[in-house]
Amino acid sequence: MSRRLARTRLEAQLYLDLTPCECGHLGLESRAEPVRFEDGTPGCRYTGTCAACGRARADVFRVPEISQDVSSPDEVVYGLGGRTSELLDPAQWLWAAQRYAAAVPSTSDSAPEAERATARTWLMAAVAAVGETEKFLPEDADSVPATAFWTEGGRAFYQRDPQAFHEHRLADLRMGYERRLRAMRDEAPPRMSRARAAHVMTANRIQEEWAQRHGIDDEEWVEGGASGAQRRSPTPQQRAELTRLLRAAAGQDERTGLSLDDPVAGLAAFRQLIAEVEIGWAADVPERDRRRGAALSAYRAWLARGGWSDEAWRELLENDRVWQVPWEALPPAAEVWEMVRAARAAAAGPA
Ligand SMILES: [Zn+2]
Repeated sequence: MSRRLARTRLEAQLYLDLTPCECGHLGLESRAEPVRFEDGTPGCRYTGTCAACGRARADVFRVPEISQDVSSPDEVVYGLGGRTSELLDPAQWLWAAQRYAAAVPSTSDSAPEAERATARTWLMAAVAAVGETEKFLPEDADSVPATAFWTEGGRAFYQRDPQAFHEHRLADLRMGYERRLRAMRDEAPPRMSRARAAHVMTANRIQEEWAQRHGIDDEEWVEGGASGAQRRSPTPQQRAELTRLLRAAAGQDERTGLSLDDPVAGLAAFRQLIAEVEIGWAADVPERDRRRGAALSAYRAWLARGGWSDEAWRELLENDRVWQVPWEALPPAAEVWEMVRAARAAAAGPA
């Protein structure tokens, strides 16, 4: 009987943690002891007792001839080189990465050093786990193929969101974790400003209320990964609602996330609206022209009403260089955003 390879103790432990007991409980405190198989190859036996039902659990894995347990305070290593895991499929790795990253509180930059060290370890584990998913990318394809998933939960995750396994998405996710990690390493523990602390508290409250309203108890939940059957993940619409609420609380435009305090950002939102119309109605030229015309009329009406001239920024606006417009050249931010709202309504309106 061929045993599966556990490249490192960390990998074996993660596998045990993600493989539920017969009773459904996740997580296992285990002891490891080295063993030799009959053919002489080295292995490791993990034993433990389920904390929920008291069942004895045991798993035996092959281990590498030369140890790959090389994790350090600066890096988590589940396995060396490009070899893919035999214990966890790509979705389980991605799920683990998301769980580790989600466990890092957004306020950890103001936490005591011990908590910060734990948070760093979780982020390092998240980085390494995404890397394990990326090892499943074939040389000649830009996405992990459906055949790479062998667990029920992994296949469900893949079917629900195959794009999550695209190489760009994986790289973006990993680099995001790496950025957070770097930020935590580089900065001395900063005192959170009162304004920032208030903002974080408001954002947390909004998220809690939103989760309660929709009965969501685990935002990052994916099929097969969690224990409770009543756990609920948000629909795309619910996720979008949360984004809108958080943006509104942060003084940002709900649609674009651009700052409502910045007139240049308002002009950028207007330019973005025109681009959306041009792309969205590319196949229907009369409708595209009608909607774009309506948005531009609203813009001109706004200029006329305020007695403004767009001479100072018209060329930059037309040439898609909005961010070079000096903010002093523009009317106040509130006025510019007023125009954006009017132009959006005009572009969305019926003929
Ligand atoms: Zn159990």
